[in-house]
Amino acid sequence: MPTRSTCERLSRRGAVASRAVAVFPIRVYPDPVLRMKAAPVERFDDDLARLVDDMVETMYAAPGVGLAAPQIGVSLRVVVFDAGEGPRHLINPVMESTSGEHEFEEGCLSVPGKWWPITRPAFARARGLDIRGEEVVYEGDELVGRVLQHELDHVDGIVLLEHLGRRERKQALRELREEAAFDRST
Ligand SMILES: [Zn+2]
Repeated sequence: MPTRSTCERLSRRGAVASRAVAVFPIRVYPDPVLRMKAAPVERFDDDLARLVDDMVETMYAAPGVGLAAPQIGVSLRVVVFDAGEGPRHLINPVMESTSGEHEFEEGCLSVPGKWWPITRPAFARARGLDIRGEEVVYEGDELVGRVLQHELDHVDGIVLLEHLGRRERKQALRELREEAAFDRST
């Protein structure tokens, strides 16, 4: 029950007790905000805490296992994820190391309804800050490693389509264009 636990956590924090957590619409490729290099967070204040809470809520509502701020139209270096151990967040994340190789059927909330087998390093370790500005490190292989790499790409303006081979990417872009044209005509 992510909705309930997030709200309870918010109300315990006091300062933002009166504000409900919000679910934001997710920006879909080729929205330009998804192609921008996001700016680093400089202020670790209540606004940042709210952004993280809203992102977690939006991620669960989607549902997804990770979300980066540009995906809700906020061009800041903030990512959230839940690889099965509860919600985590990383501010101003930096990839510290990756190793191995693993193919994984990968999708993106900003490219809805599509998955591709994408090969990336199996293990990833990322460093960043939490909402209080304290240093945190997350690492893992399988889903954790994958979601860290995917979300850190987003704050650099990289969408998973860029990890496809040339022919696959062309095919994917053609499909997306056709679907967009179909959506407009219906
Ligand atoms: Zn994504």
